[in-house]
Amino acid sequence: MEQIHNFIGGEIVSSKSGRFAPVFNPATGEQIAQVVLSSADETKKAIEIANKAFPKWSKLSPLKRSRILFKFKALLEENMDELARLISREHGKVFSDAVGELTRGLEVVEFACGIPHLQKGEHSANVATGVDSHSLMQPLGVCAGITPFNFPAMVPMWMFPVAIATGNTFVLKPSEKDPSLALGLAKLLKEAGLPDGVFNVVQGDKESVDVLLTAPEVQAVSFVGSTPIAEYIYTTASAHGKRCQALGGAKNHCILMPDADMGQAANAIMGAAFGAAGERCMALSVVLAVGDETADALIANLKGQIAKMSVGPGITQGKENDMGPVISAQHKAKICDYITSGEKQGATLLVDGRDFKVKGFENGYFVGPTLFDNVTPEMDIYKEEIFGPVLAVVRVPDFETGLKLINQHEYGNGTAIFTRDGETAREFQENVQAGMVGINIPIPVPMAFHSFGGWKRSIFGPLNVHGNDGVRFYTRMKTVTSRWPASVRLEHHESSFTMPTME
Ligand code: NAD
Repeated sequence: MEQIHNFIGGEIVSSKSGRFAPVFNPATGEQIAQVVLSSADETKKAIEIANKAFPKWSKLSPLKRSRILFKFKALLEENMDELARLISREHGKVFSDAVGELTRGLEVVEFACGIPHLQKGEHSANVATGVDSHSLMQPLGVCAGITPFNFPAMVPMWMFPVAIATGNTFVLKPSEKDPSLALGLAKLLKEAGLPDGVFNVVQGDKESVDVLLTAPEVQAVSFVGSTPIAEYIYTTASAHGKRCQALGGAKNHCILMPDADMGQAANAIMGAAFGAAGERCMALSVVLAVGDETADALIANLKGQIAKMSVGPGITQGKENDMGPVISAQHKAKICDYITSGEKQGATLLVDGRDFKVKGFENGYFVGPTLFDNVTPEMDIYKEEIFGPVLAVVRVPDFETGLKLINQHEYGNGTAIFTRDGETAREFQENVQAGMVGINIPIPVPMAFHSFGGWKRSIFGPLNVHGNDGVRFYTRMKTVTSRWPASVRLEHHESSFTMPTME
């Protein structure tokens, strides 16, 4: 059985912990490898190595750091197909979707290549007579990233390109469900010329995570995953004096107005609900259809499209499938339990994905696209994140009711509205309580030069990932106020014991 190990100090390092987790191919249900679960001591060792690499790396000029990232970007492009196959094999998503997530990660690398400009700080001449002020944006030290299974490439690349570009060193703890991609990225970083110890991968579980949250050398923790774990990460890291950004779960709603372009909206909703088998934090899982006519028209369209969807393995010889399997047998069972609960709690199950079988892949973790009508806010399938290909239609009488429902939900990651009316769209963007808003755009994931993050229980911590927030998160501001000798030479210069004010 293939074993997946750590990458520490520029090389693959075998773990001696004796603890492993199985890695499956979700399309076949076969175990394809086992990943080591590192011990606390092995995790401490990785932190120590990253800490040793920090002084030299942080003093390298930003331009030199950025040139390494430029090479890394070129290598990512060259190796895109191979990396996408690696993602598809362990995660299950279809090949083109894996290329899509790699591309979104690559865009953050492109953003981070601009670090000489982004890390300049600010400067004001003559804040007082003969006094200048400027700020330095200095790196923090060792930073840690803890990432989820659903984007094994993109989510780590939300973090480490900006962290290392700004002069930090990094320890990544990827998801134990699809751990290989992190090693693929580590190898390319080394090939690009990144000094050993600047980027390290520790495979593991809670034992490693707890070390990352408490070790004194770790200065900042970035986490992406489910909300209960995000809360734990944020509380623990903060209690240990670390900076923390912890992005959690989601339940993304859209409002479908009667004046929307129904064809365009339905196509967008299909992709956003069922792409990546609904295992995206920006997946659309609730449609608030305004008026029965709108709901009926949408459902007729969706039913027609669902009937034509091809579901199967992520990598095929011929035409690609629209949707692959979900991540594990346990997750499949959990999604099916939600579907059963929706039925029991009174929603109308229009398309049932529970007993879905793919010919030749009978042991794969497939759930068919599932569609509910007449869902109400009291139901578990409305309240909770299912993280599967299950779409709920909630019928609402008007825009205001829809907006109120979104704002009352505990999550506030992404949201969207489909309408042709500018005034409604404007009111929506002004008043909706969510971090990322789409107007006739179903999955409004911000580009790398903007920042990604939700509101409410979808994020803990004040700064989002990548964009300007990412640069702020991974740097510490130091503001220098300087006066040069002329004033010091003044004969009347005397000690002053009052609060300094600039004259
Ligand atoms: P998860 O919370 O189970 O795991 C995330 C990471 O935390 C993994 O590396 C895992 O090993 C670690 N972990 C798990 N249990 C832990 C514990 N008890 N103590 C310490 N560490 C622990 O999440 P997942 O199932 O891998 O990913 C799916 C979730 O991630 C969904 O809720 C999804 O919405 C969320 N997500 C959010 C975003 C976002 O940007 N907000 C993006 C992607 C995924």
